[in-house]
Amino acid sequence: MHDVVIVGGGPVGLFVAGELGLAGCSVLVLERDSEPHPEARRLPLGLRGLSAGSVEAFHRRGLLPSLLAASGVAGVPDVPDPDEPAPPRSVAHFAGTALDPADVDLARLPYRLPGPAADGIMTSLDAVQTVLAERAAAVGVEIRRGCAVTAVRQDTGTVTVRAGDHEFRARWLVGCDGGRSSVRRLAGFDFLGTEPRFTGYVAVATLTDPDVLRPGFTLTPAGMYLTMTGPGHLGVLDFDGGAYDRSRPVTREHLQEVLRRVSGTDVTLTDVHLASSFTDRAMQTSTYRRGRVLLAGDAAHIHSPLGGQGLNLGLGDAMNLGWKLAATVRGHAPDGLLDTYTAERHPVGAEVLEWSRAQVAVMRPDPHSRAALAVLRELLTTRDGTTYAFRRTAGTELRYDLGGESPLVGHDAPDFRLADGTRLGELLRDGRGVVLDFSACGDLRDAALRFPDRIRYAGGPARDDLGLGAVLVRPDGVVAWAADGTPDPGSFDRAATRWFATASDEAMALPR
Ligand SMILES: Cc1cc2nc3c(=O)[nH]c(=O)nc-3n(C[C@H](O)[C@H](O)[C@H](O)COP(=O)(O)OP(=O)(O)OC[C@H]3O[C@@H](n4cnc5c(N)ncnc54)[C@H](O)[C@@H]3O)c2cc1C
Repeated sequence: MHDVVIVGGGPVGLFVAGELGLAGCSVLVLERDSEPHPEARRLPLGLRGLSAGSVEAFHRRGLLPSLLAASGVAGVPDVPDPDEPAPPRSVAHFAGTALDPADVDLARLPYRLPGPAADGIMTSLDAVQTVLAERAAAVGVEIRRGCAVTAVRQDTGTVTVRAGDHEFRARWLVGCDGGRSSVRRLAGFDFLGTEPRFTGYVAVATLTDPDVLRPGFTLTPAGMYLTMTGPGHLGVLDFDGGAYDRSRPVTREHLQEVLRRVSGTDVTLTDVHLASSFTDRAMQTSTYRRGRVLLAGDAAHIHSPLGGQGLNLGLGDAMNLGWKLAATVRGHAPDGLLDTYTAERHPVGAEVLEWSRAQVAVMRPDPHSRAALAVLRELLTTRDGTTYAFRRTAGTELRYDLGGESPLVGHDAPDFRLADGTRLGELLRDGRGVVLDFSACGDLRDAALRFPDRIRYAGGPARDDLGLGAVLVRPDGVVAWAADGTPDPGSFDRAATRWFATASDEAMALPR
């Protein structure tokens, strides 16, 4: 029996698996596809934008160099002067409206520090999965391909899943099996939200007359089309109410008919090499946990890919869930820790669904929607508007409501850099929490010793400590406690116990 079975070896399943393996849990991933590098996940169809928040998650596990290499992105040079945070390199578009990163008001991002993970990158699903599969293997995770899960049963203390003729038992099950999740259905989760307004297509095609299409995003009286940088790489949104039967393959004839109608041109496709379809159905489960079954990624929430947020949202789930489930498995989780997963991540998912719906609402091909988009465009392209859009999409501006006096508590931690050059991201690599003690007060070091295998202590001045005396950062990079001046070890101890429990608590816990 494994500690955890994960259904789905996509990016989210592999990330969760790596987190659990890192913490010493025994993990089995069951993946339906036999082929580890399917074409739809490779470039060009597999092209995906990772937000700064996701890039930071890779940085915090020492995976950023391999991700950049696998993505074909040159390493981002370190910014030497911590007093001058750089503006972001990009801001996700809103409903096809490009936003200028130079308009982001850095004064409104008080916790933005320069560093290797301060910006998003373009990558592919395949690159992300390759890096995460390598990490999962390195920490002892077993991945079985060609295993489609068809049954799930929960008993007291265990979960059993069936794939083909085999049954697998584990203490916990995590469903990361995508938007059409079997685990979600089989374990009795609800899935609530809104039905689609459009069918979208992405394709790589040969066009006889590509110049009749405009570059980039083009809104038309019938929908929207997009031409990307690669030859023949295009996208179309057809506001058909999601009527297209997506179980059918996308034929050349169909795509040409849709593209002609939406673009209002007589463009001709002589061949379609690759194509897939999607919709803007926006749904979310009302909880991410039922007993011993948890959901993460698209299995828990789906929405349109406009503005590219689904993968980022799922990786955020994975980072949040991994250490909490690992502590639960290993028997040293404080009471209620696992339930903070839904409490923290569900509202973030709900916000992304709303952001996605808002874009669809103003892209609809009717005069009222277009009028609303025109107004929104004017607002979003102001300094305030672009800063607002950045804060909603970058991932690094996330803040969970964890209580606490400091506004930094619950916030994604800035990548503090100690005087010796060590970054917070590097200190988080082994999956433990980190207390950064800028005042290097001996009392805090002693207090941290109560959590020996859970919290790492690092003392010394930082290049920029943002006026703080000390911070406690959870393994997922979220600030759990912050001291404005001289840190109080008692206050640190209470915060640390809330998230990590102490070694003596563990001694009193029942055997797992
Ligand atoms: C056109 C398009 C562009 C996008 N662009 C972006 C972007 O730029 N940025 C972004 O953040 N997001 C983007 N997304 C969304 C992103 O691709 C998804 O949110 C992300 O892939 C979800 O990851 P996941 O691991 O949850 O699910 P998936 O990637 O769907 O992986 C699920 C895995 O589970 C397996 N599986 C399914 N059923 C079973 C079963 N019964 N048993 C075992 N295994 C099973 C599947 O084979 C698959 O490997 C885009 C989506 C589309 C359609």
